[in-house]
Amino acid sequence: MAEVRLTSVQKSFGNVNVIPQLDLTVKEGSFTVLVGPSGCGKSTLLRMIAGLEEVSGGSIYIDGVDVTNAQPSDRGIAMVFQSYALYPHMTVRQNIGFGLRLAKMAKDEINQRVEEAAEILQLGPLLDRKPKQLSGGQRQRVAIGRSIVRKPKVFLFDEPLSNLDAALRSQMRVELAELHSKLDATMIYVTHDQVEAMTMADQIVIMKGGEIQQTGAPMTLYNQPNTPFVAEFIGSPK
Ligand code: ADP
Ligand code: MG
Repeated sequence: MAEVRLTSVQKSFGNVNVIPQLDLTVKEGSFTVLVGPSGCGKSTLLRMIAGLEEVSGGSIYIDGVDVTNAQPSDRGIAMVFQSYALYPHMTVRQNIGFGLRLAKMAKDEINQRVEEAAEILQLGPLLDRKPKQLSGGQRQRVAIGRSIVRKPKVFLFDEPLSNLDAALRSQMRVELAELHSKLDATMIYVTHDQVEAMTMADQIVIMKGGEIQQTGAPMTLYNQPNTPFVAEFIGSPK
């Protein structure tokens, strides 16, 4: 588990100032949902935390360590990509262990970690299948498995359920909540879906136009919205 802290983070693409100045503390061990309309800067923020995008200004700390200029692999962070990022020609076992093989980890250690992850994700009986022999939910779990084996302190999810149907989406919400309670990890979950935010988060961060409108527990935002935008977005009673 680790705290993630952003201080005066700023991001421009060319002369477009996408994130003017942003401060955020994500509590250690929390399931924090970052929510806001399309184009407000959620993915950009997540990619900067992961180190996939450079900040234009400000600092990022993980567990109090300044990682602003650290390589993605040195941050103790895993970004969970959507299930379509699986390799079709590899088995579930090979897909889950792929990153560890790249990192030249010993075979026994890889096998042990893959099996641990498969156990947590209930993929044990499916380890020898190829992605096309799996359901959408199983594929999503394999994508998550690839992150779990690296034992990150922080998991980042960027709209991982957006291309699943409604039934599977609600099943995966439950599974992700269970995963959070099984793993000692901080999770930052990005969505533009208010329902997802309200049901999954213990802390919600509401963004608009590259700025944080309000941060708090779901019911706090619902009952005490700071701005008309938050009230409208969360659906607070008028
Ligand atoms: P969200 O994930 O909330 O939908 P993004 O973080 O993807 O929003 O994008 C925020 C803004 O930054 C958008 O206006 C988008 O067009 C712009 N943007 C994102 N990535 C780039 C890029 N690589 N180059 C230029 N503009 C970008
Ligand atoms: Mg996005």
